[in-house]
Formats: sequence, structure tokens, C-alpha cells
Amino acid sequence: IQHQAPRRITILGATGSIGCNTLDVMTHLGGRDAFEVPAITGMGNIDLLAKQARQAGAGFAVTADPARYQDLKAALSGTGIEAGAGPAGLIEAGERDTDLLMAGIVGIAGLAPTLAAVSRGADIALANKECLVSAGELFAAAMAKGGGKLLPVDSEHNAIFQVLEEHQRHAVERIILTASGGPFREHTREQMSVMTADVAAAHPNWSMGLKISIDSASMFNKALEMIEARHLFGMRPEQIEVIVHPQSIIHSMVGYTDGSVLAQLGTPDMRHAIGYAISHPRRASLPVERLDFAKLSRLDFHAPDETRFPALALARTAMQRGGLQGAILNGAKEAALEAFIAGQIGFLDMADVVAQTMDKMDDGRQPNSIEDVYAADREARDIAASLMRQPA
Ligand code: NAD
Ligand code: MG
Repeated sequence: IQHQAPRRITILGATGSIGCNTLDVMTHLGGRDAFEVPAITGMGNIDLLAKQARQAGAGFAVTADPARYQDLKAALSGTGIEAGAGPAGLIEAGERDTDLLMAGIVGIAGLAPTLAAVSRGADIALANKECLVSAGELFAAAMAKGGGKLLPVDSEHNAIFQVLEEHQRHAVERIILTASGGPFREHTREQMSVMTADVAAAHPNWSMGLKISIDSASMFNKALEMIEARHLFGMRPEQIEVIVHPQSIIHSMVGYTDGSVLAQLGTPDMRHAIGYAISHPRRASLPVERLDFAKLSRLDFHAPDETRFPALALARTAMQRGGLQGAILNGAKEAALEAFIAGQIGFLDMADVVAQTMDKMDDGRQPNSIEDVYAADREARDIAASLMRQPA
């Protein structure tokens, strides 16, 4: 038997849905015999973060909330695990030597610590879609410079990655992102307009974090994924299609110039994509439920209704305008989403706020640095906030 050194995996956002699934997959693939964990991060859930750090034997644990530093330190006392906090702590977690970093922080907050690992040359398992939506070209350039592999974890992009062979990239005609349609797939606009965050967060197929679940209900999640796909696979906007597929069995598809369409299928369980990303280029044995085609009996598809889901058209606008419009779409969306969760605006108001913010900031500016991306993100949040203060 050949002895292999344990693989080092840092986990940003360990306490979230992606983070917990990642630790679960690692346990199934050999746990501490197979993996070392140089660093893990979380935010408010200190008990869980400390427990995960102890179980994984992490070297460094970081809470994003500076006010919780002492709590984390106390929870880790006697373990030998270092504690850190705040934005600087997150970046330090990204900088710790590792083979692969799981980018599982939600939102633009995930960008800086992920980039820290990118520039160190780590392979990146990318769940955080905001890195590519907000900073696509800069992120891709940083990856090329760092030299690590970029492994998509978003299930659609992971599916495409699985069926898109490098030597056939030139022959790709289109990519087809599947969308479950979320909990409001069959609701009228009138019904959607009165929906609350609790109802919007109840996803029919996938179990995910709060924000991405609500983004799935509005299809802003799919909008972000269209922009993400453009950067990951070098597609033109018109090559990216979205089809509603309520069963979420086909995770996405690639159409080639010869008319063939290749799809990746599986049960809706993020551990498929996570396991694929952290085992690449090998395939591991994963503890996921197998598809039973006899029980499936049918797969449905229909075109998305863009009058009820205007987020999809906003993604196309952002891609056509280019420049900072992805960062602006995302910044305005995060501000609107937070206001919706707080009960300050209605479900359909989110897309209006994003559309108006994108128009107000449509000045063709190109980002020269990550600082430009953060500035556009802050400005988009400010403009969105001022729009939301105005009486309707
Ligand atoms: P989540 O809300 O369950 O977890 C988010 C994690 O990030 C937690 O560890 C939390 O403590 C941390 N965090 C939150 N705010 C932070 C901040 N301001 N600074 C630093 N850390 C912060 O989210 P999730 O569902 O696991 O999603 C994580 C990312 O993966 C998102 O970008 C999401 O779009 C993407 N993603 C998730 C899924 C899924 O199945 N959950 C699928 C595809 C893509
Ligand atoms: Mg997805």
C-alpha cells in the first residue's frame, strides 16, 4: 500500500450549508487520516465553529465577527488551535498553506479571503458565486497568475465542468443551466408580491443557506449563475440558456456544434459537487442517494417566465454592458435581499431596486483592481438603499 500524505483543505464558511456538507464528505472520505485542515472560518455560531475545529484538528479557526473573538478563544482554550477574527483573520485563513480551499462564505465578503488563497497558488473549490459575478475578469487573471485549479462547486457549473472536456471547448455551442423554478414556480405576480422571507426560503428540492434559498425563489440565484458561467467557461451571453426543470435531476447540460447535448444527472445533494471538486481529477465513492430511474418516471422542462422572474433579463443586461455591472447587480441585490429579509420591501421590489441601481450606474466604467470592485459594490448598496427609502 502506498502511503499518501494527507490532503490539506481550508474551509471558508465552515459553519454554513456548504461548509457542513464539505466536512461531512471529508469524514466519509477518511476524515483525519486523509485530510488536514489548516484553517476554517465561520461567523456567529461559535459553538459549532469550535466543535468543527476540534473534530477536524484544524490549525486555525476564525470568526468573521470581531466581537466574538474572545468567545472563540475561550471555546478553543486547551486545544492548541489558534483563534482569529474579523476581515484580517479571514484573509490570514486564506493565506495559510493549503492544497485546496473551499470558498463557502456567502456574498462579496468571500472575495478577499478567497483571493488570498488564489494568489498563494491553492486550488479553489468555488461555491461562492459572488467572486466571479462581481470580479470575473480580475478573479480569472488572479487564478491564472496563482496557477491553482478552479473547481466549480455550484451544482450547475460542476455539472458542466464534468461534461465539458478541455479538448472539446472549441466545439461548445451553448450551455443550458437548469433551474428548479423555486417555491414560486407556479405563483402569479400578485401572489408573489405578498410572499414573506420565511415562505421564500423554503426550497422544494435543495437544502441551502437562507440567502441563496430566497435568491432561488426570485431566480436571482440563476441570474448570478448565468454570469458565473460566462466567466468560468468563456461563453458569450447568447450562448447561455436557462430551462426550468422542477425535479432538479439534470444539474445542467452542454450543447455541442454537432447537436449532441451532454448532461450530468444526480439526486439534488450538494455532496455530489463538493465530492467531485475535492477529489478531482479522481472520482471518490460518495455517500449520496443513487438515482432510481424506474421511480423517477418523468423529467419536466419549460421555459422560464421572465415577466415573473425579471432577474434573468437583468443578468443578460449586466453581461452585455460588462465592466462593473456584475458587481453592481450583486451589490444592489444583496442590499435589496437584506431589506426583504428585514420585511422592509416586498418580494418583487427586489428586482426593481436592482434594475434601477444598474441603470443609474451604467457609465461603462471598467475595474482596474479589486478595490474598484469593492467601491462599485458599496456604491450600488448605497444607491439601492436610497431607492428603498423613497416612498413608492
Ligand atoms: P450559509 O448562509 O449556509 O453559510 C454561509 C457561511 O458564510 C457561514 O459559515 C457563515 O458563518 C459565513 N458568513 C456569512 N456572512 C459572512 C460574512 N459577512 N463574512 C464572513 N463569513 C460570513 O450559505 P451557503 O448556502 O453555505 O452558501 C455559501 C456560498 O455557496 C454562497 O455564495 C452560495 O451562493 C453558494 N452556494 C451554496 C449552495 C448550497 O447548496 N448551499 C449551492 C451552490 C452555491
Ligand atoms: Mg446552483
